[in-house]
Amino acid sequence: MKISGNYLTEILYKYKGVEFVKVIKFGGSSLASAQQLQKVFQIVKDDATRKFVVVSAPGKRSDADIKVTDLLISYHEKYLKDEDTTALVEQIVARYETIMDELSMDKTILADIRRSVEALAQLPKENNPHLFDAFLASGENNNAKLVASFFKEQGLPAVYKNPLDLGIIVSDEPGNARILPSSYDKIGRFRETEEIFVIPGFFGYTEAGDICTFSRGGSDITGSIVAAGVQADQYENFTDVDGIFVAHPGIVRQPKTIKELTYREMRELAYAGFAVLHDEALMPAYKAHIPVVIKNTNNPTHPGTLITTKREADEGPVVGIASDQNFATIYISKYLMNRELGFGRKVLQILENLGLSYEHMPSGIDDISIVLRERQLTPEIEERLIQELEHELKPDELRITHGLSMIMIVGEGMQRRIGVTADSTAALAKHKINLEMINQGSSEVSIMFGIRGEEEKDAIRALYDTFFGEQTEG
Ligand code: ASP
Repeated sequence: MKISGNYLTEILYKYKGVEFVKVIKFGGSSLASAQQLQKVFQIVKDDATRKFVVVSAPGKRSDADIKVTDLLISYHEKYLKDEDTTALVEQIVARYETIMDELSMDKTILADIRRSVEALAQLPKENNPHLFDAFLASGENNNAKLVASFFKEQGLPAVYKNPLDLGIIVSDEPGNARILPSSYDKIGRFRETEEIFVIPGFFGYTEAGDICTFSRGGSDITGSIVAAGVQADQYENFTDVDGIFVAHPGIVRQPKTIKELTYREMRELAYAGFAVLHDEALMPAYKAHIPVVIKNTNNPTHPGTLITTKREADEGPVVGIASDQNFATIYISKYLMNRELGFGRKVLQILENLGLSYEHMPSGIDDISIVLRERQLTPEIEERLIQELEHELKPDELRITHGLSMIMIVGEGMQRRIGVTADSTAALAKHKINLEMINQGSSEVSIMFGIRGEEEKDAIRALYDTFFGEQTEG
């Protein structure tokens, strides 16, 4: 029998009389229907260490469905325009009611949910920077109440816990709140709870007592904050995929999932367009050295993807391939550039003066490329940029190329393995893909290839086959 590290740690903890504690977060798709809630209940029930349950608002049940957060956005819009909101209120309340009916729940709290949804349209419109946040936050808040009563009815010692009571105090930045560091100690007092706390994600309270939400998708942030606060042994993030895929499933057929990856690798992948989890959301958990597991509510026995500070599993030199589109490069070449003092500074000064931020800057002896997001380059800005670069630097060659994609291959193991770049370029050459640019990050955790946008998919498939074996047919 193979005993997992976690299992051993749990036994050890029990032996020492210390409880192993997990924070578990469920996304909207895991809470969209009664059927999903049954799965969620089973997952929490199956593991007594799952003490802190963070929930999103009910998500989409099908592609055509509207998630509760989006209904709340429309409700807010109508309210601001003084339009009739009755139908929307009914639609929002109905989402909760349907779930409760299908679970044959006692509907006492439904009246409370209805009241709180209706009460939103009593809040002042003028001079109220927290109005939108109050609307949005109600989606998760009501859902936490629903989930807590469902768990209780099913015999679990669950309670709804408001972020204020838990101590989630945030900066006063509507729609983009940040946790105040003093919150962690407050949250930490609850680590030994005998009850299961069901906590609404996505928002906290300012010191003045106003509701402030995190950025969109912010329930992940709440989970991460609670995990850091209670010093959880693990933060489990349940979603609707088996973990983080090695490459985008829209490009590679049935890609493998990553078993284990480091925070550093995840950052690089997230940067290049991997969107399983908001990388910023993991900041609190990262700082507190808490391992994070991405798991699937619809397939909970799958081990998922473990994110840690150090990787143990040997996954080969590359763990993932990501890509992002719509980049432009500014190519500047000048004979003896390396001897010219202040060349780089002048380039960056010009970019700064034009308000342009850059992403990468690979350089050679006599040339330098600056990679930036294309959307910043309006025709006027591009013209001024060329003029100023010509004037200040007198380059031999100056060229701006549009329509590039950046492909990033990521893996801590690359530091120890010779030939990863060679294998990659050979794979791309075999598929007749021209490399416009290549850049090895200074951390040696990633290598980036700049290619023409139309070759992106072919390039990813070629690299996948090289590092992960042939794609599954089907
Ligand atoms: N419901 C919120 C959103 O849609 C927060 C979340 O789901 O994490 O952004």
